[in-house]
Amino acid sequence: KSFQDLGVIESLCDACTALGYKAPTPIQTEAIPLALQGRDLIGLAETGSGKTAAFALPILQALMESPRSSLFGLCLAPTRELAYQIAQAFEALGSLISVRVAVVVGGMDMISQSIALGKKPHIVVATPGRLLDHLENTKGFSLRSIKHLVMDEADRLLDLDFGAIITKILKVLPRERRTYLFSATMTSNVESLQRASLSNPLRVSI
Ligand code: AMP
Repeated sequence: KSFQDLGVIESLCDACTALGYKAPTPIQTEAIPLALQGRDLIGLAETGSGKTAAFALPILQALMESPRSSLFGLCLAPTRELAYQIAQAFEALGSLISVRVAVVVGGMDMISQSIALGKKPHIVVATPGRLLDHLENTKGFSLRSIKHLVMDEADRLLDLDFGAIITKILKVLPRERRTYLFSATMTSNVESLQRASLSNPLRVSI
């Protein structure tokens, strides 16, 4: 199967080709058509499986199909490094559609992040603690317009004790949204997070 067979639109297929992706990986083959149908997903997949593009492509496609003035997608990641990797994937896959991505992670300057958030990014990739800090302290920043939420490496998010912070973030997100939870392992904590945040999800794994 090709990306086109999965329902991916031409400009995003072209971006995949430009990145050297010849064919979708197994997790992409499973997840992309379901996400494009509007389903919430639980993805059991490790780094290296191509999981980032499995959620980034459907989000970028949905972004292209809707008005693009406000914050559209939020990705929560356990570490700075992963947050930058995810942002880079969104930028690379979305390069032909001029997607704006902001990264909000701990240990970096709050003010320059506030400025980046003020420039109306389409996608924010964040570690949970710093995102909450911005929600409480950056004027004019809110998550009210979010249509797609990703929780990547959910098992690690919970191992790092981000559970309480994620609960606070979920409270200020619209209920009308798509949610994708990716995890390498399915623990009881991940299952509780899943029950609290996903609606009638399908499970995809490789
Ligand atoms: P990830 O599991 O999302 O961290 O991706 C692992 C690596 O695989 C990244 O360097 C991606 O750029 C690359 N990748 C993702 N999808 C594909 C694909 N369909 N074909 C070849 N490489 C890919």
